[in-house]
Amino acid sequence: MSSQIKTAEAPPGIEGQGFFATTLDSVVGLARKNSIWPLPFATSCCGIEFMATMASHYDLARFGSERLSFTPRQADLLMVMGTIAKKMGPVLRQVYEQMAEPRWVIAVGACASSGGIFDTYSVLQGIDRVIPVDVYVPGCPPRPEQIIDGVMRIQDLIGKESIRRRNSPEYLKLMEEYMIK
Ligand code: SF4
Repeated sequence: MSSQIKTAEAPPGIEGQGFFATTLDSVVGLARKNSIWPLPFATSCCGIEFMATMASHYDLARFGSERLSFTPRQADLLMVMGTIAKKMGPVLRQVYEQMAEPRWVIAVGACASSGGIFDTYSVLQGIDRVIPVDVYVPGCPPRPEQIIDGVMRIQDLIGKESIRRRNSPEYLKLMEEYMIK
């Protein structure tokens, strides 16, 4: 039975008898990417797909993400799922601003990514008009497999990210462009 148990792969490093050496970035990245706490910001049908993704059949807990957070201060992954009306834009932005660094964002589905079929005066044509987005998941709605793929793409990003990236000039410039302090 024990041979069926899979553990996270160790980051690249130097190993010998009784020791393993690697970089701090790699260890922090490994821990972070396997313990993502998502905040589900679900407004419509894509949220139902997310519920299926969390349920036993697809079981997002396998990726270390079983702990959902409904408070932004204890979440590091904002998952936006559904149609976002322009009225909701400031609320979404406030939620993002309340999240501590490091934080990541997935736009799940066509509506969150681009407004989807709702090319109307009242719908935000993509959440990246108000907050930066790391991964876009296509589909209307995306299947749970696609949502899982989006989470895995975020895991790739997190695993490779320098712990100092959030202080990098590029990241600070991005925040400045969105006028986020
Ligand atoms: S992308 Fe499609 S399924 Fe998802 S919220 Fe929009 S209309 Fe609903």
